[in-house]
Amino acid sequence: HAKTCGRDNCQLFHMGMNVPLSNRLSLENDLRHALERNQLVAYYQPQVDLKRGHIVGFECLIRWQHPVRGLISPAEFIPLAEETGMITAIGKWMLDTACQQLKVWKTRELPPVRLAINISPRQMEQPDFVEHILNALHQHGLDQGMLEVEITENLIMKDVERTVEKLKQLSASGIKIAIDDFGTGYSSLNYLKKFPIHTIKIDQSFIADIERDGDTSIVTAIIAMAKGLHLNLIAEGVETENQLAFLRRMECDEIQGYLLSEPLTAQAATTMLIENITPLAMFAGR
Ligand code: C2E
Ligand code: MG
Ligand code: MG
Ligand code: MG
Repeated sequence: HAKTCGRDNCQLFHMGMNVPLSNRLSLENDLRHALERNQLVAYYQPQVDLKRGHIVGFECLIRWQHPVRGLISPAEFIPLAEETGMITAIGKWMLDTACQQLKVWKTRELPPVRLAINISPRQMEQPDFVEHILNALHQHGLDQGMLEVEITENLIMKDVERTVEKLKQLSASGIKIAIDDFGTGYSSLNYLKKFPIHTIKIDQSFIADIERDGDTSIVTAIIAMAKGLHLNLIAEGVETENQLAFLRRMECDEIQGYLLSEPLTAQAATTMLIENITPLAMFAGR
């Protein structure tokens, strides 16, 4: 490259490279302090039982309240955290935060709900991964059934042997396991039968297809498969009443998406639980 471009071009090339690089480095540097400076925030998105119409769980979704850049989405910093290994500390923070929240709700005698946390490959690789989860639940006096871990197909396939061992330990303790973004990864369907999986989350791209071009083929196939395997099924990214109506007809178990609620602060999620607002009621009878 250097040989084919003139001096000016090379300079431009370098400048073009340096901007995102320094951006990345400063973000990386800031992220190192984000935990100690209390800049990480957990949001909670309701997961609603389609038949009964009430909230059965929330997915914990991390955000970074950056002092200068504002609220940063996990899509921007989780990959960075994963690359640098910071995800281990961040993952522990999220687990503890989720447990504290469950404890608060339990103490206030709110309806019991499940919290789901997203797990990165690097977290799963930690030798004390399972132990840490069990300890956190125990310390907060929580029932194991209140926690669900979300992993992707790609995570499983990275190291099948070791992952299945950990999943079995979690499951044997009562912790639920969900496959996130189902249908988008490299996987063998074989694992659905062999591994202790409780839930599959149909990826939002397939839910979007229902609206975009009326293509329901993959969603229909996934629902049929999940029913055959007796797995709990969550549709992600439900944004329209049309999608809701289809999923209802197909007897999908749970839905999650902007139609019902975007991810909420702990306070807003608590209000929703206290008032026992059932977002589905808005669409009843349609
Ligand atoms: P995900 O686990 O698949 O989470 C679903 C994403 O879809 C969330 O984005 C959520 O806000 C968004 N979403 C929910 N409903 C709708 C909808 O109706 N329409 C659309 N278009 N989007 C919807 P978010 O919060 O930006 O998170 C992005 C990804 O970051 C997550 O995807 C997850 O992979 C990762 N992530 C989030 N929190 C954590 C965490 O604590 N740890 C780890 N390791 N990863 C996390
Ligand atoms: Mg998820
Ligand atoms: Mg997902
Ligand atoms: Mg995702």
